[in-house]
Amino acid sequence: MGYVDTLFSLKGKVALVTGGGRGIGQVVALGLAKAGAEVAIISRSGAEETVTLIEKEGGKAYSLKADVTSEKSVDGALAEILKKSGSLHIVFNNAGICIHKDTLEASIAEWREVLETNLTGEYIVARAAGRIMIDKGIKGSIINMASMSGTIVNIPQWQASYNVSKAGVIHLTRSLAIEWAPYGIRVNSLSPGYIATPMSVDTPKELKDAWAPLMPFRRMGTPEELIGAVIYLAADSSGYTSGSDLIVDGAYVCQ
Ligand code: NDP
Repeated sequence: MGYVDTLFSLKGKVALVTGGGRGIGQVVALGLAKAGAEVAIISRSGAEETVTLIEKEGGKAYSLKADVTSEKSVDGALAEILKKSGSLHIVFNNAGICIHKDTLEASIAEWREVLETNLTGEYIVARAAGRIMIDKGIKGSIINMASMSGTIVNIPQWQASYNVSKAGVIHLTRSLAIEWAPYGIRVNSLSPGYIATPMSVDTPKELKDAWAPLMPFRRMGTPEELIGAVIYLAADSSGYTSGSDLIVDGAYVCQ
């Protein structure tokens, strides 16, 4: 194995990917498996398709049904991971939802659903994983999915709940990075720009036409273009990186 391979290797590591049944989570789960990790994938409806993709490439993975908004459900899934894999080194805390709605029209229930999934859900998963890592003395890496929307306000669609949830994720990340540094646990966030996935591909054409001139690269990113960033944050390559928000947005937030 060459120097670079060693630096970015996840051999012998157990990784949890939430929301890995489709979209970014599916592609990143495959990337983590190719880098050598055994991958446990959580979503409400399961992730059998992702498991099949990983196994076809010779990797190891399994799917668990769990809802990140439920502490009981997450605790059950993590107990299952410990039973099956014996450890937990990496968490890609990726499950999330978005509702596009004008603030004056959105219901409080919609606000709560987005905050509950994107912010409280990531908190529940990070906390449960942190407990395991601290208990077992694992110097793990937690990667929280944020978004450029945690830094800028997207236009022309209105999505205040989403923007606030992702800004919360970025500061939750910094808070946990400080709190868990004494245990050697690193906590970072990833902030993509527009990425072509089911979440964004189903977006109405008028909206995508409005986004096009706002994107410096004049295109959306692909989930594959996030794999390297997640492997970097998961592996020993980022041993002194914690509390960072890694923005992968084709320079969108620079404008
Ligand atoms: P998708 O909608 O394609 O996938 C979301 C995944 O999350 C699905 O597997 C879904 O599975 C799962 N999920 C949703 N709610 C829950 C829940 N309560 N418990 C467990 N799993 C859940 O989204 P993307 O791949 O596009 O997005 C993934 C993440 O990346 C999100 O956090 C999103 O905010 C973020 N992001 C996306 C960008 C984009 O442009 N696509 C840009 C920046 C950030 P199921 O429904 O079966 O539970």
